[in-house]
Amino acid sequence: MRRSAVRTAAGVLLLSLAVAADLPGQNAARNSPQRPLAVVRLNGAEYLPAADFGARFGLKPLRSADGRKLTLKSNWTTIELEADTRECAINGVRVFLGEAIRDHRGALHVSRIDAEKLITPILLPGSGQTSVPAVRTIVIDPGHGGSDPGMENKALRLQEKTLALDTALRLKQELERQGYKVVLTRRDDRQLARSKKADLQKRGELTLGTKADLFISLHYNSVESGADRVTGVEVYSLTPQYQYSHSDPEREDSTAAIANLGNRHDHWNALLAYNIHRELLAGLKASDRGLKRGRLAVLRFASCPAVLVEAGFLSNDAEARKIATPAYRQKIAESVAEGVRVYANLVEGVRRQRAGQR
Ligand SMILES: [Zn+2]
Repeated sequence: MRRSAVRTAAGVLLLSLAVAADLPGQNAARNSPQRPLAVVRLNGAEYLPAADFGARFGLKPLRSADGRKLTLKSNWTTIELEADTRECAINGVRVFLGEAIRDHRGALHVSRIDAEKLITPILLPGSGQTSVPAVRTIVIDPGHGGSDPGMENKALRLQEKTLALDTALRLKQELERQGYKVVLTRRDDRQLARSKKADLQKRGELTLGTKADLFISLHYNSVESGADRVTGVEVYSLTPQYQYSHSDPEREDSTAAIANLGNRHDHWNALLAYNIHRELLAGLKASDRGLKRGRLAVLRFASCPAVLVEAGFLSNDAEARKIATPAYRQKIAESVAEGVRVYANLVEGVRRQRAGQR
């Protein structure tokens, strides 16, 4: 194991798990297919005992006195779960689950899809994946454009479309500096199609024509009420099939059963989104609105791992004033680029590990 390969916190985690998994005996037994986790059906979905799931990654369970909370912990990783909530924390980063954590016969349970498609990729990149994606060409998508200004702060004369394009150009420069080929969905103030639906589909589908390896859509946010208190960063990846988006109450998304093109990349979507979100929080010191999932059109049509970044709220005057400064947008671009770098290092680590095993 080459320690120099990965230097970030997540990288150290990958290393530690890889080392643990290399040990013969206990881990081999723990990961053996003869001992599958007990699956129970709760509220119409499959659930796994959270403590047993954590044990597969060497995480020790710590239950709160009232039994409502469960911390899964190792030297490198802390996952905080709470009964009846869809929100959890992975190494201090706010992550929204598709389905709530449930207490079943005195033990907290996590939905199988959340365990497999959200938590596993973050803890052990590449786990269960037959192929490892390359990271060479990146499509950056500045949200909106032309007659669609996106969100606005009229008092400060700010438009999302302009700020998103500027941020995209900065991100392009940062990624090109790292050696990536970068393609923009738009380089000026325009829409890609007359209808909103066709416009979004064209942006996502640009990943096909350019054989892109990553897709990053850049946006700024707004709320209608609570503008004075709502601030911060949120990052979206595509909701997995049969799961529920952050904005949908459980079991109330009629499109949940539909498989989208982007769902082929569920594992890498989660890993990419988590790392970009984490680097944005670290770089901007902004409040954490969470890693979320949605069936957003641009993500549905992307043919590679894809994320949508909401880098701050134009509806909040204080945050909007920050976003209006080139220095802050530069910081956003650098943080997203750092998230890509961490993701690419983790992917490369998986590739190297597999090459070594051959
Ligand atoms: Zn937008």
